[in-house]
Amino acid sequence: MKNFNMDQIVALAKRRGFAYPGSEIYGGFANSYTYGPYGSELKKNIKDLWWKTFVQNRTDVVGIDGDIILHPKTWEASGHLNNFNDPLVDCKSCKKRIRVDDFLEDWIKKRTGATMEYEKILEKFRKDVPKEEVYQEGLKEGAKKTSNFSEYAKQVVRFEEGIAKDDLKLVHQILQGQKIKCPFCGKVDWAEPRQFNLMFSTQMSKTLEGEGTVAYLRPETAQAIFLEFKNIVDTMRVKLPFGIAQIGKAFRNEITPGNFIFRRLEFEQMEIEYFIFENTWEKTFEAWLKDMKDWCQLIGLTKVHELEHAQEKLSHYSKRTVDLEYDFPFGRKELYGLAYRTDFDLAQHEAFSKKELKIHDEESGKKILPHVIEPTWGVDRTVLALLCEAYHEEKLEDGERVVLKFKPIVAPVKVAVMPLMKKDGMKEKAEEVFELVKEFGNCELDDGGSIGKRYRRQDEIGTPVCVTIDYDTMEKGTVTIRDRDSMKQERVKIGELVDKLRKRYFTI
Ligand code: ATP
Repeated sequence: MKNFNMDQIVALAKRRGFAYPGSEIYGGFANSYTYGPYGSELKKNIKDLWWKTFVQNRTDVVGIDGDIILHPKTWEASGHLNNFNDPLVDCKSCKKRIRVDDFLEDWIKKRTGATMEYEKILEKFRKDVPKEEVYQEGLKEGAKKTSNFSEYAKQVVRFEEGIAKDDLKLVHQILQGQKIKCPFCGKVDWAEPRQFNLMFSTQMSKTLEGEGTVAYLRPETAQAIFLEFKNIVDTMRVKLPFGIAQIGKAFRNEITPGNFIFRRLEFEQMEIEYFIFENTWEKTFEAWLKDMKDWCQLIGLTKVHELEHAQEKLSHYSKRTVDLEYDFPFGRKELYGLAYRTDFDLAQHEAFSKKELKIHDEESGKKILPHVIEPTWGVDRTVLALLCEAYHEEKLEDGERVVLKFKPIVAPVKVAVMPLMKKDGMKEKAEEVFELVKEFGNCELDDGGSIGKRYRRQDEIGTPVCVTIDYDTMEKGTVTIRDRDSMKQERVKIGELVDKLRKRYFTI
Protein backbone atom coordinates (compact mmCIF):
# COMPACT_ATOMS: atom_id res chain seq x y z
CA MET A 1 0.00 0.00 0.00
CA LYS A 2 1.14 3.57 -0.69
CA ASN A 3 2.19 5.73 2.24
CA PHE A 4 -0.51 8.06 3.35
CA ASN A 5 -0.48 11.20 5.41
CA MET A 6 -2.76 12.92 7.87
CA ASP A 7 -4.38 15.06 5.17
CA GLN A 8 -5.88 11.94 3.64
CA ILE A 9 -7.22 10.79 7.00
CA VAL A 10 -8.65 14.23 7.80
CA ALA A 11 -10.25 14.48 4.34
CA LEU A 12 -11.79 11.02 4.63
CA ALA A 13 -13.01 11.76 8.16
CA LYS A 14 -14.87 14.81 6.89
CA ARG A 15 -16.06 13.29 3.60
CA ARG A 16 -17.50 10.24 5.31
CA GLY A 17 -18.93 11.77 8.47
CA PHE A 18 -16.36 10.68 11.06
CA ALA A 19 -15.29 14.14 12.24
CA TYR A 20 -16.02 17.65 11.04
CA PRO A 21 -14.04 20.80 11.85
CA GLY A 22 -15.92 22.39 14.78
CA SER A 23 -18.02 25.56 14.42
CA GLU A 24 -17.29 25.57 10.69
CA ILE A 25 -20.15 27.93 9.78
CA TYR A 26 -18.43 30.58 11.93
CA GLY A 27 -15.13 30.03 10.16
CA GLY A 28 -14.00 27.22 12.46
CA PHE A 29 -12.70 27.28 16.03
CA ALA A 30 -9.11 26.38 16.79
CA ASN A 31 -8.70 22.64 17.10
CA SER A 32 -12.31 21.88 17.74
CA TYR A 33 -13.98 18.93 16.04
CA THR A 34 -17.43 17.42 16.03
CA TYR A 35 -17.66 13.67 15.71
CA GLY A 36 -20.10 12.93 12.92
CA PRO A 37 -22.50 9.98 12.81
CA TYR A 38 -19.80 7.38 12.02
CA GLY A 39 -17.21 8.94 14.34
CA SER A 40 -19.75 8.87 17.17
CA GLU A 41 -20.55 5.21 16.49
CA LEU A 42 -16.85 4.34 16.40
CA LYS A 43 -16.26 6.20 19.65
CA LYS A 44 -19.26 4.58 21.30
CA ASN A 45 -18.08 1.14 20.22
CA ILE A 46 -14.67 1.83 21.78
CA LYS A 47 -16.14 3.06 25.05
CA ASP A 48 -18.75 0.29 25.32
CA LEU A 49 -16.18 -2.38 24.56
CA TRP A 50 -13.77 -0.90 27.10
CA TRP A 51 -16.45 -0.76 29.78
CA LYS A 52 -17.46 -4.36 29.04
CA THR A 53 -13.86 -5.58 29.03
CA PHE A 54 -12.59 -3.81 32.11
CA VAL A 55 -15.67 -3.24 34.26
CA GLN A 56 -18.48 -5.66 33.44
CA ASN A 57 -16.32 -8.68 32.61
CA ARG A 58 -14.19 -8.34 35.75
CA THR A 59 -15.15 -9.01 39.32
CA ASP A 60 -12.53 -6.64 40.74
CA VAL A 61 -13.48 -3.35 39.04
CA VAL A 62 -16.47 -1.06 39.59
CA GLY A 63 -17.39 2.06 37.63
CA ILE A 64 -18.33 5.63 38.54
CA ASP A 65 -19.41 8.75 36.68
CA GLY A 66 -18.03 11.84 38.42
CA ASP A 67 -18.35 15.56 37.81
CA ILE A 68 -16.15 17.63 35.54
CA ILE A 69 -15.94 20.45 38.07
CA LEU A 70 -14.70 19.20 41.43
CA HIS A 71 -13.91 21.04 44.67
CA PRO A 72 -11.01 23.41 43.84
CA LYS A 73 -8.97 21.97 46.72
CA THR A 74 -8.77 18.76 44.69
CA TRP A 75 -6.22 20.35 42.38
CA GLU A 76 -4.14 21.78 45.19
CA ALA A 77 -3.98 18.33 46.76
CA SER A 78 -3.28 16.50 43.52
CA GLY A 79 -0.41 18.86 42.68
CA HIS A 80 -1.96 19.99 39.39
CA LEU A 81 -2.13 23.61 40.49
CA ASN A 82 1.63 23.76 40.97
CA ASN A 83 2.97 21.11 38.65
CA PHE A 84 0.69 20.67 35.67
CA ASN A 85 2.66 22.98 33.41
CA ASP A 86 4.01 23.19 29.89
CA PRO A 87 7.04 25.30 29.01
CA LEU A 88 5.90 27.96 26.54
CA VAL A 89 7.74 30.67 24.67
CA ASP A 90 6.45 33.85 23.05
CA CYS A 91 7.78 35.24 19.80
CA LYS A 92 8.26 38.95 20.57
CA SER A 93 7.90 39.82 16.92
CA CYS A 94 4.57 38.18 15.95
CA LYS A 95 3.32 37.54 19.53
CA LYS A 96 2.56 33.89 18.79
CA ARG A 97 3.07 31.44 21.65
CA ILE A 98 4.42 27.91 21.20
CA ARG A 99 5.26 24.90 23.33
CA VAL A 100 9.01 25.03 23.42
CA ASP A 101 9.92 21.43 24.31
CA ASP A 102 7.99 19.89 21.40
CA PHE A 103 9.16 22.63 19.07
CA LEU A 104 12.86 22.19 19.87
CA GLU A 105 12.68 18.44 19.67
CA ASP A 106 11.08 18.62 16.23
CA TRP A 107 13.63 21.23 15.17
CA ILE A 108 16.52 18.96 16.13
CA LYS A 109 14.93 15.98 14.45
CA LYS A 110 14.43 17.89 11.23
CA ARG A 111 17.93 19.31 11.32
CA THR A 112 19.58 15.94 11.80
CA GLY A 113 17.14 13.99 9.69
CA ALA A 114 16.47 11.82 12.74
CA THR A 115 14.00 9.04 12.17
CA MET A 116 12.14 6.64 14.42
CA GLU A 117 15.16 4.36 14.60
CA TYR A 118 16.96 7.20 16.28
CA GLU A 119 14.30 7.33 18.98
CA LYS A 120 15.28 3.86 20.10
CA ILE A 121 18.96 4.74 20.30
CA LEU A 122 18.06 7.93 22.05
CA GLU A 123 16.29 5.95 24.76
CA LYS A 124 19.45 3.95 25.36
CA PHE A 125 21.47 7.14 25.41
CA ARG A 126 19.16 8.65 28.02
CA LYS A 127 19.82 5.64 30.24
CA ASP A 128 23.59 5.38 29.72
CA VAL A 129 25.00 8.89 29.70
CA PRO A 130 25.40 10.82 32.97
CA LYS A 131 22.87 13.59 32.60
CA GLU A 132 24.80 16.17 34.57
CA GLU A 133 27.72 15.84 32.17
CA VAL A 134 25.60 16.45 29.10
CA TYR A 135 23.83 19.30 30.79
CA GLN A 136 26.99 21.11 31.85
CA GLU A 137 28.44 20.64 28.41
CA GLY A 138 25.26 22.07 26.97
CA LEU A 139 25.55 25.15 29.11
CA LYS A 140 28.97 25.83 27.65
CA GLU A 141 28.28 25.04 24.03
CA GLY A 142 24.64 25.62 23.17
CA ALA A 143 23.37 23.49 20.33
CA LYS A 144 25.47 22.75 17.29
CA LYS A 145 24.42 21.88 13.79
CA THR A 146 25.14 18.21 13.43
CA SER A 147 24.12 15.13 11.58
CA ASN A 148 26.04 12.95 13.98
CA PHE A 149 23.68 10.90 16.07
CA SER A 150 25.49 11.08 19.37
CA GLU A 151 25.57 14.88 19.06
CA TYR A 152 21.88 14.83 18.27
CA ALA A 153 21.20 12.70 21.31
CA LYS A 154 23.23 15.03 23.52
CA GLN A 155 21.24 17.99 22.32
CA VAL A 156 17.91 16.32 22.95
CA VAL A 157 18.98 15.28 26.43
CA ARG A 158 20.28 18.80 27.06
CA PHE A 159 16.90 20.32 26.22
CA GLU A 160 15.14 17.77 28.34
CA GLU A 161 17.46 18.57 31.20
CA GLY A 162 16.96 22.29 30.81
CA ILE A 163 13.22 21.80 30.92
CA ALA A 164 13.27 19.22 33.70
CA LYS A 165 15.46 21.49 35.83
CA ASP A 166 13.23 24.41 35.00
CA ASP A 167 16.31 26.00 33.49
CA LEU A 168 14.47 27.80 30.77
CA LYS A 169 17.41 30.19 30.43
CA LEU A 170 19.35 27.38 28.78
CA VAL A 171 16.45 26.78 26.43
CA HIS A 172 16.35 30.49 25.62
CA GLN A 173 20.09 30.44 25.00
CA ILE A 174 19.64 27.62 22.51
CA LEU A 175 16.74 29.35 20.74
CA GLN A 176 18.64 32.59 20.32
CA GLY A 177 22.16 31.13 19.97
CA GLN A 178 21.13 28.80 17.18
CA LYS A 179 19.05 31.48 15.51
CA ILE A 180 16.04 29.21 15.50
CA LYS A 181 13.30 30.91 13.54
CA CYS A 182 9.73 31.41 14.70
CA PRO A 183 7.61 28.96 12.67
CA PHE A 184 4.99 31.67 12.15
CA CYS A 185 6.93 34.83 11.20
CA GLY A 186 10.46 33.56 10.57
CA LYS A 187 12.08 36.07 12.99
CA VAL A 188 14.51 35.19 15.79
CA ASP A 189 13.23 37.30 18.67
CA TRP A 190 12.28 35.04 21.54
CA ALA A 191 11.10 36.05 24.99
CA GLU A 192 12.39 33.90 27.83
CA PRO A 193 10.30 30.70 28.01
CA ARG A 194 7.96 30.29 31.01
CA GLN A 195 5.93 27.51 32.57
CA PHE A 196 2.14 27.79 32.04
CA ASN A 197 -0.51 25.83 33.86
CA LEU A 198 -2.64 23.63 31.59
CA MET A 199 -5.85 23.74 33.59
CA PHE A 200 -8.88 25.65 32.32
CA SER A 201 -10.21 27.84 35.11
CA THR A 202 -13.68 29.26 35.51
CA GLN A 203 -15.48 31.50 38.01
CA MET A 204 -18.21 30.08 40.21
CA SER A 205 -20.81 31.43 42.64
CA LYS A 206 -20.36 35.08 41.77
CA THR A 207 -21.47 37.37 44.58
CA LEU A 208 -22.89 40.88 44.23
CA GLU A 209 -19.42 42.30 44.88
CA GLY A 210 -18.19 40.37 41.90
CA GLU A 211 -16.15 37.96 43.99
CA GLY A 212 -16.12 34.42 42.72
CA THR A 213 -14.49 31.13 43.53
CA VAL A 214 -12.08 29.90 40.94
CA ALA A 215 -12.90 26.36 39.87
CA TYR A 216 -11.21 24.16 37.28
CA LEU A 217 -12.40 21.88 34.54
CA ARG A 218 -10.77 18.56 35.36
CA PRO A 219 -7.53 17.93 33.43
CA GLU A 220 -7.83 14.18 34.07
CA THR A 221 -10.66 11.92 35.18
CA ALA A 222 -8.57 10.23 37.88
CA GLN A 223 -9.18 12.67 40.71
CA ALA A 224 -12.94 12.09 41.00
CA ILE A 225 -12.06 8.45 41.61
CA PHE A 226 -9.76 9.32 44.52
CA LEU A 227 -12.41 11.63 45.98
CA GLU A 228 -14.97 8.79 45.96
CA PHE A 229 -12.57 6.11 47.18
CA LYS A 230 -14.02 6.09 50.70
CA ASN A 231 -17.62 6.00 49.45
CA ILE A 232 -16.85 3.02 47.25
CA VAL A 233 -15.13 1.18 50.10
CA ASP A 234 -18.03 1.91 52.46
CA THR A 235 -20.84 1.02 50.06
CA MET A 236 -19.56 -1.60 47.65
CA ARG A 237 -17.93 -4.25 49.87
CA VAL A 238 -14.77 -4.16 47.74
CA LYS A 239 -11.52 -5.70 48.97
CA LEU A 240 -7.94 -5.03 47.87
CA PRO A 241 -6.95 -5.37 45.13
CA PHE A 242 -9.79 -3.60 43.33
CA GLY A 243 -10.24 -0.93 40.69
CA ILE A 244 -12.52 2.04 40.11
CA ALA A 245 -13.10 2.94 36.47
CA GLN A 246 -14.42 6.03 34.78
CA ILE A 247 -14.95 7.32 31.26
CA GLY A 248 -15.30 11.04 30.76
CA LYS A 249 -14.15 14.34 29.39
CA ALA A 250 -10.95 16.06 30.46
CA PHE A 251 -9.79 19.55 29.52
CA ARG A 252 -6.30 20.91 28.95
CA ASN A 253 -5.29 24.32 27.74
CA GLU A 254 -2.78 22.86 25.30
CA ILE A 255 -1.01 25.67 23.52
CA THR A 256 -0.06 23.67 20.47
CA PRO A 257 -2.98 21.40 19.82
CA GLY A 258 -2.88 19.70 16.49
CA ASN A 259 -2.58 16.65 14.34
CA PHE A 260 -6.33 16.47 13.99
CA ILE A 261 -7.86 14.85 17.09
CA PHE A 262 -4.51 13.76 18.56
CA ARG A 263 -4.05 16.75 20.84
CA ARG A 264 -7.26 18.53 21.76
CA LEU A 265 -8.36 21.05 24.33
CA GLU A 266 -11.18 18.76 25.41
CA PHE A 267 -10.93 15.03 25.03
CA GLU A 268 -12.17 11.83 26.60
CA GLN A 269 -10.28 9.45 28.84
CA MET A 270 -10.99 5.93 30.03
CA GLU A 271 -9.18 5.46 33.32
CA ILE A 272 -8.87 2.94 36.10
CA GLU A 273 -7.35 3.52 39.51
CA TYR A 274 -6.43 0.04 40.67
CA PHE A 275 -5.88 -0.05 44.45
CA ILE A 276 -3.34 -2.54 45.77
CA PHE A 277 -1.10 -3.54 48.65
CA GLU A 278 2.20 -1.71 48.18
CA ASN A 279 4.30 -4.89 47.96
CA THR A 280 2.37 -6.13 44.91
CA TRP A 281 2.91 -3.09 42.72
CA GLU A 282 5.47 -4.57 40.33
CA LYS A 283 3.44 -7.66 39.58
CA THR A 284 0.22 -5.67 39.19
CA PHE A 285 1.95 -3.19 36.90
CA GLU A 286 3.07 -6.00 34.59
CA ALA A 287 -0.42 -7.54 34.62
CA TRP A 288 -1.99 -4.23 33.55
CA LEU A 289 0.62 -3.72 30.87
CA LYS A 290 -0.39 -7.06 29.43
CA ASP A 291 -4.10 -6.20 29.69
CA MET A 292 -3.49 -2.95 27.86
CA LYS A 293 -1.60 -4.69 25.07
CA ASP A 294 -4.36 -7.31 24.83
CA TRP A 295 -6.84 -4.46 24.45
CA CYS A 296 -4.85 -3.11 21.49
CA GLN A 297 -5.00 -6.53 19.91
CA LEU A 298 -8.72 -6.85 20.60
CA ILE A 299 -9.53 -3.65 18.73
CA GLY A 300 -6.99 -4.28 15.99
CA LEU A 301 -4.10 -1.91 16.73
CA THR A 302 -0.77 -3.44 15.69
CA LYS A 303 1.71 -0.57 15.44
CA VAL A 304 2.00 -0.23 19.21
CA HIS A 305 5.29 0.12 21.12
CA GLU A 306 6.26 0.39 24.76
CA LEU A 307 8.18 3.39 26.04
CA GLU A 308 9.59 3.21 29.56
CA HIS A 309 9.86 6.72 31.01
CA ALA A 310 13.26 7.69 32.35
CA GLN A 311 13.12 8.28 36.12
CA GLU A 312 13.79 12.02 35.79
CA LYS A 313 10.99 12.44 33.23
CA LEU A 314 8.32 10.97 35.49
CA SER A 315 5.29 13.05 36.52
CA HIS A 316 5.30 14.38 40.07
CA TYR A 317 3.12 11.49 41.30
CA SER A 318 4.69 8.56 39.50
CA LYS A 319 7.36 6.00 40.40
CA ARG A 320 7.15 4.12 37.13
CA THR A 321 5.45 5.03 33.85
CA VAL A 322 5.24 3.11 30.61
CA ASP A 323 3.55 4.64 27.59
CA LEU A 324 2.06 2.60 24.82
CA GLU A 325 2.97 4.58 21.74
CA TYR A 326 1.50 4.30 18.29
CA ASP A 327 3.11 4.87 14.90
CA PHE A 328 0.90 7.67 13.63
CA PRO A 329 1.64 9.13 10.16
CA PHE A 330 3.25 12.12 11.97
CA GLY A 331 5.50 9.97 14.15
CA ARG A 332 5.54 7.64 17.13
CA LYS A 333 3.47 9.27 19.85
CA GLU A 334 1.72 8.43 23.12
CA LEU A 335 -1.51 6.50 22.78
CA TYR A 336 -2.03 5.21 26.33
CA GLY A 337 -0.20 5.43 29.65
CA LEU A 338 0.36 3.18 32.63
CA ALA A 339 1.65 4.68 35.88
CA TYR A 340 2.42 3.54 39.40
CA ARG A 341 1.07 6.48 41.41
CA THR A 342 2.09 5.02 44.81
CA ASP A 343 -0.21 6.28 47.61
CA PHE A 344 0.49 9.87 46.53
CA ASP A 345 -3.08 10.88 45.70
CA LEU A 346 -4.85 9.26 48.63
CA ALA A 347 -2.22 10.62 51.04
CA GLN A 348 -2.58 14.12 49.60
CA HIS A 349 -6.39 14.06 49.77
CA GLU A 350 -6.21 12.74 53.31
CA ALA A 351 -3.92 15.61 54.27
CA PHE A 352 -5.93 18.31 52.50
CA SER A 353 -9.42 17.08 53.44
CA LYS A 354 -8.44 15.96 56.94
CA LYS A 355 -10.63 12.88 56.41
CA GLU A 356 -9.16 9.49 56.98
CA LEU A 357 -8.92 7.48 53.77
CA LYS A 358 -7.10 4.48 55.23
CA ILE A 359 -8.80 1.13 55.17
CA HIS A 360 -8.64 -1.78 57.57
CA ASP A 361 -6.39 -4.61 56.46
CA GLU A 362 -7.76 -7.84 57.87
CA GLU A 363 -4.50 -9.73 57.53
CA SER A 364 -2.24 -7.39 59.47
CA GLY A 365 -5.03 -5.91 61.57
CA LYS A 366 -3.65 -2.48 60.70
CA LYS A 367 -5.00 0.51 58.86
CA ILE A 368 -3.30 1.05 55.52
CA LEU A 369 -3.40 3.49 52.66
CA PRO A 370 -3.57 1.51 49.43
CA HIS A 371 -1.18 2.15 46.58
CA VAL A 372 -2.40 2.65 43.01
CA ILE A 373 -1.64 1.44 39.52
CA GLU A 374 -3.27 3.64 36.89
CA PRO A 375 -3.86 2.45 33.34
CA THR A 376 -5.25 5.24 31.19
CA TRP A 377 -6.60 5.27 27.65
CA GLY A 378 -7.41 8.28 25.46
CA VAL A 379 -10.63 7.79 23.49
CA ASP A 380 -9.81 10.36 20.80
CA ARG A 381 -6.34 8.93 20.21
CA THR A 382 -7.89 5.47 19.95
CA VAL A 383 -10.26 6.78 17.27
CA LEU A 384 -7.34 8.32 15.41
CA ALA A 385 -5.13 5.24 15.70
CA LEU A 386 -7.98 3.04 14.47
CA LEU A 387 -8.57 5.31 11.47
CA CYS A 388 -4.83 5.25 10.65
CA GLU A 389 -4.53 1.49 11.15
CA ALA A 390 -7.62 0.79 9.06
CA TYR A 391 -6.84 3.18 6.18
CA HIS A 392 -5.88 1.39 2.95
CA GLU A 393 -5.70 2.50 -0.64
CA GLU A 394 -5.93 -0.36 -3.11
CA LYS A 395 -5.51 -0.63 -6.85
CA LEU A 396 -8.29 -2.57 -8.52
CA GLU A 397 -8.79 -3.71 -12.11
CA ASP A 398 -11.32 -0.95 -12.61
CA GLY A 399 -9.64 1.85 -10.63
CA GLU A 400 -8.75 2.41 -7.00
CA ARG A 401 -10.54 2.17 -3.73
CA VAL A 402 -10.06 3.55 -0.24
CA VAL A 403 -11.08 1.06 2.38
CA LEU A 404 -11.12 1.21 6.17
CA LYS A 405 -10.33 -2.29 7.38
CA PHE A 406 -11.81 -1.97 10.86
CA LYS A 407 -12.27 -5.09 12.91
CA PRO A 408 -16.03 -5.74 12.98
CA ILE A 409 -16.03 -5.25 16.75
CA VAL A 410 -15.29 -1.52 16.32
CA ALA A 411 -16.74 -0.86 12.85
CA PRO A 412 -19.30 1.98 12.98
CA VAL A 413 -21.63 0.16 10.59
CA LYS A 414 -21.79 -3.59 11.04
CA VAL A 415 -23.88 -4.62 8.03
CA ALA A 416 -25.20 -2.59 5.07
CA VAL A 417 -28.32 -3.96 3.44
CA MET A 418 -28.74 -2.91 -0.18
CA PRO A 419 -31.73 -3.42 -2.45
CA LEU A 420 -30.48 -3.58 -6.05
CA MET A 421 -33.42 -1.37 -6.95
CA LYS A 422 -36.15 0.33 -5.01
CA LYS A 423 -38.88 -1.34 -7.10
CA ASP A 424 -40.47 -4.80 -7.43
CA GLY A 425 -40.58 -5.37 -3.67
CA MET A 426 -36.81 -5.25 -3.22
CA LYS A 427 -36.90 -2.25 -0.90
CA GLU A 428 -39.46 -3.92 1.35
CA LYS A 429 -37.43 -7.14 1.35
CA ALA A 430 -34.34 -5.13 2.32
CA GLU A 431 -36.28 -3.67 5.24
CA GLU A 432 -37.11 -7.20 6.39
CA VAL A 433 -33.46 -8.23 6.15
CA PHE A 434 -32.43 -5.07 8.02
CA GLU A 435 -34.70 -6.15 10.89
CA LEU A 436 -32.87 -9.51 10.96
CA VAL A 437 -29.30 -8.15 11.02
CA LYS A 438 -29.74 -5.16 13.32
CA GLU A 439 -28.99 -7.39 16.31
CA PHE A 440 -25.29 -7.04 15.38
CA GLY A 441 -25.33 -3.33 16.18
CA ASN A 442 -25.60 -0.25 14.01
CA CYS A 443 -26.65 -1.39 10.50
CA GLU A 444 -27.65 0.59 7.43
CA LEU A 445 -30.23 0.34 4.73
CA ASP A 446 -28.35 1.79 1.78
CA ASP A 447 -30.47 2.29 -1.34
CA GLY A 448 -28.98 5.34 -3.11
CA GLY A 449 -26.85 5.20 -6.30
CA SER A 450 -25.39 2.34 -8.30
CA ILE A 451 -24.48 -0.81 -6.43
CA GLY A 452 -20.78 -0.30 -7.24
CA LYS A 453 -20.82 3.20 -5.76
CA ARG A 454 -22.61 1.93 -2.70
CA TYR A 455 -19.93 -0.74 -2.15
CA ARG A 456 -17.19 1.92 -2.43
CA ARG A 457 -19.00 4.12 0.07
CA GLN A 458 -19.37 1.26 2.55
CA ASP A 459 -15.68 0.37 2.01
CA GLU A 460 -14.72 3.91 2.97
CA ILE A 461 -16.83 3.72 6.10
CA GLY A 462 -15.33 0.35 6.94
CA THR A 463 -18.51 -1.76 6.89
CA PRO A 464 -17.28 -5.38 7.09
CA VAL A 465 -20.10 -6.87 5.01
CA CYS A 466 -22.84 -5.82 2.61
CA VAL A 467 -25.98 -7.83 1.95
CA THR A 468 -27.59 -7.30 -1.45
CA ILE A 469 -31.21 -7.96 -2.31
CA ASP A 470 -31.89 -8.61 -6.02
CA TYR A 471 -34.32 -10.44 -8.31
CA ASP A 472 -32.98 -13.84 -7.15
CA THR A 473 -33.89 -12.83 -3.60
CA MET A 474 -37.46 -12.29 -4.69
CA GLU A 475 -37.60 -15.59 -6.58
CA LYS A 476 -35.38 -17.94 -4.58
CA GLY A 477 -35.07 -16.34 -1.14
CA THR A 478 -31.29 -15.90 -1.35
CA VAL A 479 -29.15 -12.79 -0.85
CA THR A 480 -25.57 -11.91 -1.82
CA ILE A 481 -23.09 -11.24 0.95
CA ARG A 482 -20.09 -9.19 -0.14
CA ASP A 483 -16.98 -9.21 2.03
CA ARG A 484 -15.27 -5.83 2.42
CA ASP A 485 -11.65 -7.04 2.48
CA SER A 486 -11.68 -9.78 -0.17
CA MET A 487 -14.57 -8.22 -2.13
CA LYS A 488 -15.75 -11.81 -2.70
CA GLN A 489 -19.46 -12.37 -3.09
CA GLU A 490 -21.46 -15.39 -2.02
CA ARG A 491 -25.12 -16.30 -2.18
CA VAL A 492 -26.80 -17.51 0.97
CA LYS A 493 -30.34 -18.34 1.97
CA ILE A 494 -32.04 -15.64 4.02
CA GLY A 495 -32.78 -18.25 6.68
CA GLU A 496 -29.04 -18.91 7.11
CA LEU A 497 -27.88 -15.31 6.86
CA VAL A 498 -27.81 -14.29 10.52
CA ASP A 499 -25.97 -17.46 11.60
CA LYS A 500 -23.41 -17.11 8.85
CA LEU A 501 -22.74 -13.44 9.63
CA ARG A 502 -22.46 -14.15 13.33
CA LYS A 503 -19.93 -16.92 12.82
CA ARG A 504 -17.88 -15.06 10.24
CA TYR A 505 -17.87 -11.51 11.59
CA PHE A 506 -19.44 -11.08 14.97
CA THR A 507 -17.99 -13.76 17.20
CA ILE A 508 -15.04 -12.57 19.31
P1 ATP B 1 1.07 14.03 26.06
O1 ATP B 1 2.46 13.74 26.57
O2 ATP B 1 0.82 13.56 24.66
O3 ATP B 1 0.64 15.45 26.33
P2 ATP B 1 0.14 13.06 28.56
O4 ATP B 1 1.26 12.16 29.00
O5 ATP B 1 0.05 14.41 29.15
O6 ATP B 1 0.10 13.14 26.95
P3 ATP B 1 -1.75 11.69 30.16
O7 ATP B 1 -1.81 12.75 31.19
O8 ATP B 1 -1.01 10.44 30.47
O9 ATP B 1 -1.22 12.30 28.78
O10 ATP B 1 -3.25 11.37 29.70
C1 ATP B 1 -3.73 10.06 29.48
C2 ATP B 1 -4.19 9.87 28.06
O11 ATP B 1 -5.11 10.89 27.69
C3 ATP B 1 -3.07 9.94 27.03
O12 ATP B 1 -2.41 8.71 26.91
C4 ATP B 1 -3.84 10.33 25.78
O13 ATP B 1 -4.40 9.19 25.15
C5 ATP B 1 -4.96 11.19 26.30
N1 ATP B 1 -4.66 12.63 26.14
C6 ATP B 1 -3.88 13.40 26.92
N2 ATP B 1 -3.86 14.68 26.49
C7 ATP B 1 -4.67 14.72 25.40
C8 ATP B 1 -5.08 15.76 24.50
N3 ATP B 1 -4.69 17.00 24.67
N4 ATP B 1 -5.90 15.44 23.48
C9 ATP B 1 -6.33 14.17 23.30
N5 ATP B 1 -5.99 13.15 24.12
C10 ATP B 1 -5.17 13.40 25.16
